[in-house]
Amino acid sequence: MDLPVDEWKSYVFQKWSLLPKSTQVTISTAETLSDIFLHSSLLLQPEDEMFLQNLSRGYLVEKDPNAPLFYREEGNKKFQQKDYMGATVLYSKMCLKDIMSAQMHGYPERLQPKMMLRKAECLVTLGRRQEASQTISDLESSFAAKPTLTAAQFQILQTNLCRLKMKAQEKESLTETFPAALTKALEDMDLKGENGQVPSASSSVSLRTDPLRGRYLVATKDILPGELLVKEDAFVSVLHPGEMPPLCHLESKWDTRVTNGDLYCHRCLDHTLATVPCDGCSYAKYCSHDCMQQAWDLYHSVECSLGGLLLTLGVFCHIALRSTLVARFEDASKVIRKLCGEIRNRDTCSPERETLVQTLTCDLGGESENKGKMLEPPVPGCDLNGKYESNYNAVFHLLPHTGNHSPEHRFLCALSVSALCRRLEAAGCYKPAAAVPPGSGSELDVWGVAMLKHVLQLHCNAQAITTIQHTGSKENSVTNSRQVRLATGIFPVISLLNHSCSPNTSVSFISTVATVRASQQIGKGQEILHCYGPHQSRMRAAERQQKLRSQYFFDCSCAACQNEKHSAATGPRWEAFCCRSCGALMQGDDVLICGSTSCTESVSRDHLISRLQDLQQQVGMARKLLRNDKPEGAIQLLLGCQRDAQSFLSGEHSLVGEMEDDLAQAYAALGDWQKSATHLQKSLQVVEVRHGPSSVEMGHELFKLAQLFFNGFAIPEALNTIQKAEKVLMVHYGPWNDEIQELQKMKSCLLDLPPIPAGPSVQGPNVFFQ
Ligand SMILES: [Zn+2]
Ligand SMILES: [Zn+2]
Ligand SMILES: [Zn+2]
Ligand SMILES: [Zn+2]
Repeated sequence: MDLPVDEWKSYVFQKWSLLPKSTQVTISTAETLSDIFLHSSLLLQPEDEMFLQNLSRGYLVEKDPNAPLFYREEGNKKFQQKDYMGATVLYSKMCLKDIMSAQMHGYPERLQPKMMLRKAECLVTLGRRQEASQTISDLESSFAAKPTLTAAQFQILQTNLCRLKMKAQEKESLTETFPAALTKALEDMDLKGENGQVPSASSSVSLRTDPLRGRYLVATKDILPGELLVKEDAFVSVLHPGEMPPLCHLESKWDTRVTNGDLYCHRCLDHTLATVPCDGCSYAKYCSHDCMQQAWDLYHSVECSLGGLLLTLGVFCHIALRSTLVARFEDASKVIRKLCGEIRNRDTCSPERETLVQTLTCDLGGESENKGKMLEPPVPGCDLNGKYESNYNAVFHLLPHTGNHSPEHRFLCALSVSALCRRLEAAGCYKPAAAVPPGSGSELDVWGVAMLKHVLQLHCNAQAITTIQHTGSKENSVTNSRQVRLATGIFPVISLLNHSCSPNTSVSFISTVATVRASQQIGKGQEILHCYGPHQSRMRAAERQQKLRSQYFFDCSCAACQNEKHSAATGPRWEAFCCRSCGALMQGDDVLICGSTSCTESVSRDHLISRLQDLQQQVGMARKLLRNDKPEGAIQLLLGCQRDAQSFLSGEHSLVGEMEDDLAQAYAALGDWQKSATHLQKSLQVVEVRHGPSSVEMGHELFKLAQLFFNGFAIPEALNTIQKAEKVLMVHYGPWNDEIQELQKMKSCLLDLPPIPAGPSVQGPNVFFQ
């Protein structure tokens, strides 16, 4: 998804392998990005462009006049099945143009009110207050202006609207909405003291640089867990389209699956069900007219006609293009045009612009960060006053590590960017500036080189923007949460942080804004560290090293890696096998022997692995039963699995924990809160061993446990668990996290309860599970 689709990748690699040796050598040994780009660009033939164009056609991004009727049918089906989320998304998809500004193509006007009413109804049922009231007011205003409605039709419409509004008000008293609170949260979330050097960071950290570590942040004072260290809006971010195979793989012409692209605003990434679609394409959708307009002004006017191509070339190319587009509108703007067109026109430049132009000229293609220029600020990416801001200048100084990428890969990136440039030229997006002095190289090429640099930078500097999605929110069950990747963005300040496999910070997102908080105490002078993905609680040292080397080009020597090197070869406790006779941990590689000196048990690793696989398969079957509303069957199967597990897995094995979690869910589905809580507590112990008592994973498990106690009316246990969960989640997310808000609502609900008669038959208040 980050890189171009496989078909284009293999096409380009084949093209590379067929190039004459001498050409390969020229490109492989080219010293600057500029040379790599220009040499590769010359090799892009019309047939290559044609191949790429055919691939991009597979992604339907143009408006189809027949689509609305199809989506209405599908939407109605989902509505009948009570899948209100799916129905809303499909009703939204059918709006070729947004309802306020235009009529819906190919859709009978007399049926429009009905469709919109249904959409509003879905939104009300889902408790999406803001979107529902938006849809209702759209309805009112668009039909006030329609004299074509008969009196009877008008009356039906009015009655329905009235009913909907009442329903909406009822809902409102039950559920508060978070989006408004979130906007406020971002404003309220203040960094502790202003950092003069890095405005997006708190005054508790400082920017340093040394040859070994590059640029990095250190603590200038003792920092407590939970302290906000960085709050940075993405320089640009691109929403992941979600799993979306090209159309040839689909049976139907239109996609009825709900992907990220249908649920999140393409500009601000807010979760939204009533999206406002772009007028020109079917893939860009927004939460509001404001977002649509902003996106259009900043970048979408150029991107709109390129949707299919951008999906084919991947997210990195898309971000590269968008970065250069956004840069044109920055304060120190028009860098790219300036570079070629107006470079000699220095007297009209502000000092800041001049530095930027100089930065670009010197740095285009150059790998060296120490150019020894007089004007060069002490730390690369800073402006003349030594300030490091989240701007294009800082983005431009992120390292592309050109030399570390394989020649084929550089060729793939260069050729992809060249193809993008040609399309931009053909689409009339690029107009040569009159001021280009002859012989100074094409301005489009400069644009291309800048984009190539960004694509290469992204390998090490792309930041996944994630969100927590809740699943299993069916009535009465425990809500599971999982982290999902929503988008990819560039954050120049977060890019300053070096990696550790056991970091001392935690990153989370609200909209496109990233926040970095201390996840533990950090002493004055210690480096602020962030995990690039390979975390010690998820991977073994060898696997982490391999990943970091191939993607980020370095060998990790963090504390966790050092420790693991010296510790015995038992492996992590969450993967450990135990002795069938005495229960002690087994040790060794191919043949495992019992760790207890008084025991002689031994067994081959292969045998244990195959037992583990059998067990995983059984657990998979149990989960399937659970999904199909057969909790009794699932419990039977899982209890059998547990007995089996006890004979060879350590009690802290992650699969043992997962089985406890599944059992907890099964009992919750039966409404047996007490049993459910008992199993969840066991799962919690395993999570604690693996991830640590104050980890974010622990926070999510405690949240689930709090829900169970709440449902089961176990008031003291619930209050106690709510407090623990709040404490852990607060460190990682700050006070505006959804789960923390929900915990607080549970708490106030419990504290407000009138005394209740004791008895097992009392059903808990389930408002949070509907
Ligand atoms: Zn938005
Ligand atoms: Zn568009
Ligand atoms: Zn490490
Ligand atoms: Zn033993």
